[in-house]
Amino acid sequence: LPRVPREAQHHNDTLKRPVQTLRVKMALLGSSGVGKSSLALRFSKRQFGSTSPTVGCAYLTQVVHLSNVTFRFEIWDTAGQEKYHSITPLYYRGAHAALLVYDISKRETFIRAQVWLKELEKQYIPGSTVIWLVGNKADLAKDRQVSAKEGQSLATDRGLFFTETSALSGDQVNELLLAVAHRVNECIGAQQG
Ligand code: GDP
Repeated sequence: LPRVPREAQHHNDTLKRPVQTLRVKMALLGSSGVGKSSLALRFSKRQFGSTSPTVGCAYLTQVVHLSNVTFRFEIWDTAGQEKYHSITPLYYRGAHAALLVYDISKRETFIRAQVWLKELEKQYIPGSTVIWLVGNKADLAKDRQVSAKEGQSLATDRGLFFTETSALSGDQVNELLLAVAHRVNECIGAQQG
């Protein structure tokens, strides 16, 4: 291959797009007890611990860097409203990403996730929001009631992304946030043409 002259290399560098910052609203939805607060805490503080309900602040934050884009995540938990099976649309309105969480050791939370999904689909224009099905508590392998295959097949049928996580061990949690950032980036890119 011909060698690229030093000046040309430099010129090429200056043509790179400037660093861009995107504010990403991500909502966590799902039945009570599936681990939404624990996941939010893992995403934001990289720890698992006492998950007292989010008092005084609407969301947790985390910053993710992907090539030339900085993503400022606002992670919205539902603050216990899901117990009453209704969530103020404020929590997910305008969200770039929604994580639909169930507990792999409780089948009813998987069934319930499909009800939340219907609710979400009423609010969203397909392709404008990244919806991710998340099977949490993957560490509870011996109590598993929902197979990964079932999760994946629901996701495929409904055009969602799918990941199994463990907020307890941290398995796949950072990977998930990075993957969401990647898809949000694609989604925004597609909207801008
Ligand atoms: P939320 O009601 O959906 O916000 O659920 P929480 O985050 O409050 O978690 C409910 C319970 O599940 C708590 O006792 C957590 O410690 C536990 N929990 C959350 N995530 C996991 C996980 O990945 N594995 C296990 N084994 N327990 C978890």
